Amino acid sequence: MKSTPVTTRVSRKFKEFEAYTTSIPEYTLLPFRFHRISNKKEVIVNEIGDFLVVPAGTTARIVAREIKAGNSEDQELYADLTANFFISGNSVPNLIDVLATRYRTKKSFLDFFTSLHIFVISLRCEHTCHYCQVSRVTSDKSKYDMSIPHIDAGIAMMMKSPNPHVTMEFQGGEALLAFESIIYAVEKTKVEAEKHHKEVTYVICTNLAPLTDEMLQYCHENGILISTSLDGPAFIHNKNRHKPNANSHQLAVDGIEKCRQIIGAEHISALVTTTKLSLEYPHEIVDEYVRLGFKNIFLRPISPYGFATRSKDKNKYETGKFLEFYKKALTRIIQYNIDGYFIREDYASIILKKMLTPFPVGYVDLQSPAGLINSVIVFNYDGAVYASDESRMLAEMNDFTSQLGQLGENTYEEIFYGEKALALSDVMTNESLPGCSECAFQTYCGADPVFNHTTQGDLYGHRPTSSFCQRNMEIMRYLIELMDDNKEIEKIFRNWITGRS
Ligand code: SF4
Repeated sequence: MKSTPVTTRVSRKFKEFEAYTTSIPEYTLLPFRFHRISNKKEVIVNEIGDFLVVPAGTTARIVAREIKAGNSEDQELYADLTANFFISGNSVPNLIDVLATRYRTKKSFLDFFTSLHIFVISLRCEHTCHYCQVSRVTSDKSKYDMSIPHIDAGIAMMMKSPNPHVTMEFQGGEALLAFESIIYAVEKTKVEAEKHHKEVTYVICTNLAPLTDEMLQYCHENGILISTSLDGPAFIHNKNRHKPNANSHQLAVDGIEKCRQIIGAEHISALVTTTKLSLEYPHEIVDEYVRLGFKNIFLRPISPYGFATRSKDKNKYETGKFLEFYKKALTRIIQYNIDGYFIREDYASIILKKMLTPFPVGYVDLQSPAGLINSVIVFNYDGAVYASDESRMLAEMNDFTSQLGQLGENTYEEIFYGEKALALSDVMTNESLPGCSECAFQTYCGADPVFNHTTQGDLYGHRPTSSFCQRNMEIMRYLIELMDDNKEIEKIFRNWITGRS
C-alpha cells in the first residue's frame, strides 16, 4: 500500500534574534568614543558628554565583552558603565528616553536660532594694533560708518529672528567713534523690540580709549554691557595694541575703572589676545588681571584673519607654543584659586561646563552645528551680511565665500536659507566631519568651516593638520588629566562653572 507523502509547510517568518547568534552577549554597547590621555589611562565619552577615565586598554575589553558584572574586580566598572550610558544589560536600554532627553537638552541652543547680531557700526579706529583682525581704516566717516538705512535694515532683520532673546553687539573698528549711531540704533531697537516682544541685550566692544562719562551714563541707563581688550601689563599691551602718541594700556585701565564705577563691575569684561610676545609672559598676564581685580580671564590665540596675517613675524606661531603658554597660565590661575583668590579662565570654563553639566553651552566657536548663522550673524558697516565675525574679516581680505547677502537688498529667507547658507550647512556638524565623527571630544568641540577655509583652503578641513583641532584636542585632554590627577583642581573647576568663589 502506498503511503501518502507528508508535505511540511516552510515558514518564511524571521526567526527570533537569538537564532542568529551563537552566544548572547552580556551587554549591548551604546554609542561612545575614546581617547588615550596618557600611557596608563584613556577617557571614554558617551553621546551626551559624560566621561569616565579608565585604565588604558579598557575600551578594548568593553568591546570584546570582557567586563563581567559577576567578576569582583569588574563590578564597580560594570556599574559605572551602565549608570553612565556606555553599556546596557538590555538590547534597548530601559532609560533610552532619558538618554534622548539629555541629548535634546545638550542641543537646545538650537531651539530658537540666531541670537547674536553683530553690527559693525564703524570701521574707523584710532589704534594701530598690529594684529587687528578687521583691517581698520582711519578716515572718511561717511564711507566707513554704517548708514542709517543699513542700521534700520539690520534691526528689521534682527526682529525677524525666531529667538525671543537677541543680543545686539556693536563692533568696529572702534565702535565708540560712532557713538551717535549706537544711540540711534539702541533707541530704534527699543521701540521695535517692544512691538516684536523681544528681549534685547546690548554689548559694545571697545578699546575704551574714546570713552567719556556721558557715554557710560547712557550705557548705564540702558543696561549696555562693555567688552574690552586687555593684553596684560603695559609693556605687552602697548606693544600689541599701539595707539599713536598715547598710552593704550593706561587708557584701558582707566576705562575699566570708570566702567566699574558707573555701570558696575559685572557689566565689563576683558579679553586677552595672545601674540608672539605674549607667549613669553603667561604669569605676568595672569598677574595683571589679578592686580586689576578681575575674577575671570579669557586666553585666546591670535586669529588667522585681517592684519594679523600680514605681520607674520609678530603673529605667526605654532599651536604647540600657544598650548605651552596656555598651560603655564592655567597653572598660575589654578594656584591663585588654591591660595584663596577666585579667578577663572573662560575658555576652560566653557569646555568644563560641557564636560561636567547636562546643560547646553551656546559658545559660537565650539558648537555643532556651528555657531555661524545658527547663533550669530554679522551686519557689516557697508551693509554686507556675513555668516560670522570671522567671515567678514575674511571679506576684508577679498574672500567673500561666506558673504550671505546685502542689507536692504536680500530678504531674511534669502540670507538665512539661501545657497551660501545651505553650502555652509553641509560642513557645520562635527558629528559628520571626517576625523571629528570618531573623536572622543566631539560633544565638547565644534565645527568651524570658515576657519578651515582660511587656514586650509577647504571648508571641510583636514583634522590631522588643523590648528583648531590640535589646540582643542590638547586643551580637552589636559583638563581631563588635571581633574583625574588632582581632586582639588576638579573642585576648583566645578566652582568655575557654578561661579562660586
Ligand atoms: S576638531 Fe579635533 S578635537 Fe574637535 S571634534 Fe574634531 S577631531 Fe575632535
